Amino acid sequence: MGSVSGNSALDAALTPVDGVGGPDDVSALLAAPHFYWGCCMVCRLAGTRERPLKRCGSCACIYYCSVEHQKKHWKRHRRLCSYLTTAAQEIGADNFFGKG
Ligand SMILES: [Zn+2]
Ligand SMILES: [Zn+2]
Repeated sequence: MGSVSGNSALDAALTPVDGVGGPDDVSALLAAPHFYWGCCMVCRLAGTRERPLKRCGSCACIYYCSVEHQKKHWKRHRRLCSYLTTAAQEIGADNFFGKG
């Protein structure tokens, strides 16, 4: 594994502690400082009427300005995405935050 690449502050915030995989892990994800609303998760570009943001196709909770940024973020979002998607299914909602 060796060297760390990318934004080390954000990576550190999302790096799971060895042996921890329970609810605390999910809380950490939900409280992650890079959980931006209404703007791209990668570049924080805000959506406009002319250029609305795309949402994650699975959890429909996270926004991206482009498919490129969605793909770029997927590795990091995957765990949170599966959590949100599963939670939504359990309550019968379209996404984690309900319909809409
Ligand atoms: Zn973007
Ligand atoms: Zn997602």
